[in-house]
This record gives sequence, C-alpha cells and structure tokens, in this order.
Amino acid sequence: MSESKKIQAVKGVRDILPPESALWSRVEQTAREVFAAYNFREIRLPEFEQTELFARSVGLDTDIVGKEMYTFADRDDASISLRPEATASVVRAYIEHGMHTLPGDVKLYYIGPMFRRERPQKGRYRQFYQIGAEVLGRSERPAIDAELIEMLLIFIGRCGLNEHTLHINSIGCLKCRSAYIEVLRTALAAVKDQLGPDSQRRIQSNPLRVLDSKLPGEQAVIEALPRLSAHLCQDCAAHFTQLRMELKMRRIAYQENWRLVRGLDYYTRTTFEVTAPGLGSQDAICGGGRYDGLVELLGGPPTKGIGFALGTDRFLLALKEAGAGAVPAGIDVFVAWFSFVTYPMAARLARRLRDAGLSVEMVHEDLKFKKSLGLADRMGARFVVLIGETEMAAGTCTVKRLADGTQQTVAETEIVDYLKSAGS
Ligand code: AMP
Repeated sequence: MSESKKIQAVKGVRDILPPESALWSRVEQTAREVFAAYNFREIRLPEFEQTELFARSVGLDTDIVGKEMYTFADRDDASISLRPEATASVVRAYIEHGMHTLPGDVKLYYIGPMFRRERPQKGRYRQFYQIGAEVLGRSERPAIDAELIEMLLIFIGRCGLNEHTLHINSIGCLKCRSAYIEVLRTALAAVKDQLGPDSQRRIQSNPLRVLDSKLPGEQAVIEALPRLSAHLCQDCAAHFTQLRMELKMRRIAYQENWRLVRGLDYYTRTTFEVTAPGLGSQDAICGGGRYDGLVELLGGPPTKGIGFALGTDRFLLALKEAGAGAVPAGIDVFVAWFSFVTYPMAARLARRLRDAGLSVEMVHEDLKFKKSLGLADRMGARFVVLIGETEMAAGTCTVKRLADGTQQTVAETEIVDYLKSAGS
C-alpha cells in the first residue's frame, strides 16, 4: 500500500466543520444559559468507564450494551467501554463523590460525545453527541418531572424549534411492571407467528421492547396487546395522573404514547420523548425518564432520579429543517494594506479592532488592491479597511462597505466607533 494513501474518518463518525460548528456552539451555549436558570450545574465526565457500569445499569439484554458498545481490554486486562450514554456515569459520580449529602436536589447537566456501534444513517452515527440533564434526590414528586420537561422545552424553543411533539408514558415501578411483563409475554406468545424474528426473540429476553417495533407488519398486532396503563399499581397511576396535571398547569402540550417504553432497563414510571418533523425514521430528538432504583442498583443510598438526553446531531438536523439553523457567516472586517511601510500600522489597527470584539482578517503578504478586495469578498467580509501610504500619513483609513461599495475616510482614532455604529 502506498504511504501517501489518504486516511479517512472511521465509518459512522464525522467532522463538524465551520460554519456548522458555530451552530453547535450556539445550541450548547443556549443549553448552558437555560439550564443555569433552573439551577443545573455542569458535570464533566470521563468518556470511558468500566464495562460493568453499563452492564449493570443499562442492562445486558439491551441492544446498547449487548450489541453496540465499543468494549476493549485495557493493557491490564480490565474491561473498558466507551460510554454509550451518560446517565450511568452521572450516577456513578454521584455515589463516588457522596453527592447525596448536598442540600436539596442535585441537578446536573452534561454535554459530550457518546459511542454506539449502530448502522450509520441520516441522524444516526457511531460517535454522536448528547446534551443531558439529571435530577437526583430524595423526592419522586411529579413536579420534578414536569419542571425538567419544562426546562427541556424552553431550551428547544429558545434554539428556534417550535414544532415538536412531547410524548409521555408511565412504565410503572418494578413491581407493577413485572406483573405486566408476564401478561405481555403470554399475549405475545399467542401471536408469535405474526411477529418478525427480532420481536420473537424479545418475547423472552425483553418483551417491552416489542412495543418499540416500527415494522409495518407488526403494528396491528402490537396495537391489540394489553397495555401497561391498565396494570399500573395505585401509586404509579397516581404519579402519572399528577404528572399530567403538572404539565397542564404549566401549559405544556403532550401526547400520551403507551408504547413509549425506551430501550434501557433502568427506567421507572415517567418516560418521555420529543420528536421533530422532517427527520424520517430517526425523529426522536430527545429521550428521558425516571430511574428511581438506579442509584441503589449501583451501590448508592436510596435515591430518586430523572433525566433526559437530547441528541445534538439530530436536534441540529431538526433546526435546519425548521429554518432555524442559520449561523452568521463571514467576518466583520478585512484589513488591507499596501507596501511594507503601512504594515505596522495595519497590524496595530487589526489588533485594536479585535480587542473591540470584531472578527478581523488580515493577510500577512503584500497583496495588490484588487486581490485584497476579491479575497475579502470571498471571505464574506462586511467591511474592508484600507491602509495605504496616503492614509498612513494622514492618520486615517479608508473604509469600504462591501454590500454597496460605498467608501468613507475615517480617522484612525475613530475607526472602532465608526465600525461598531455602522453595524459590522
Ligand atoms: P437514548 O440515550 O437512546 O435515549 O437517546 C437519546 C437521544 O440521543 C435520542 O433521542 C437521539 O436523539 C440521540 N441518539 C441516540 N443514538 C444516536 C445515534 N446513534 N446517533 C445520533 N443520535 C443518537
């Protein structure tokens, strides 16, 4: 093989290039602002963990852990996995750092990459990004669920996505769900022949997941299955009723979706998802739910928890579909100078403009006037500031507005104010 063969990114991962990266920053910054308003604080987590953490929390029978995790033996033979999601890590950190002693609910958010070896397609990648938030504490009040959902929807709306659907469901607690699972298993066994191989397999391993199926041929059969809502215990049913009341009180529209079970083992009671139009089959931009037993499962004190993870990649696709994905392109100012006599003045001027917060480009070679203008135009500069020997002698510069070609002579001392008020 020739040594100069080009190396490409691994299948299913991608680079996020400018100008799109600016949209990522804008979305992440909005998340930070909205989440801070709800008193959530950032947690920065490792991107790999002991495999056992995910095996115990997400569950061995899930696709995520069973089939999609990037797992490898470390040099000391410890089994390590790239994180497929971050709730397990948040809970591990909560326990490891004794955060249950902190006052009030512990409200944390994270932003970062996750890794799953799924079949890549539009909106589905092997390294993808999530913005997630979690509330851990002693209370399981539905108000916490509703406030978290409110925060999520405020964030989504503030980013510019106004058309979306909130789906909610309750999958009960360990007790009422276990009873329902047996009912479901029996019902599924009776219609086994009408199901595809994946669903047939899941009758034993994870029957709830059958409800997730999108196979057209299975839909009628699934719709006729017994529903968990009829099997919720009194406490779980009351919790779900209060959640709906809380959402109504906050004027949050929702759709109940009895098939929303989510693929992770640790969920209890509230589950929710947000979908957006125009994304085809991968239309879930965010998933979340309550996980009241997870902290204990991982060796911590009795603790209630709820959280969500928004898929940033898909959210950005949705923003673009909705026409809300525009990012400011170009630069404010291109500083053009002619002959090395004017170079020092140009360099000092560029620095001054940058200090004032303008985005400024300046080439470091002596270009002809036309070339400078052409380059400034292609870079999307709003203004060109020209410094020739005449300008230098007079302590001025010539400012050209590229949109209409108008020119103005401005004193060097007034240039920052001029550009700022000219709306660069
Ligand atoms: P989950 O952790 O499976 O509940 O996923 C939460 C959100 O992450 C989903 O609603 C998607 O928006 C996003 N997501 C999950 N898997 C992928 C993937 N492979 N590629 C892109 N986004 C994903």
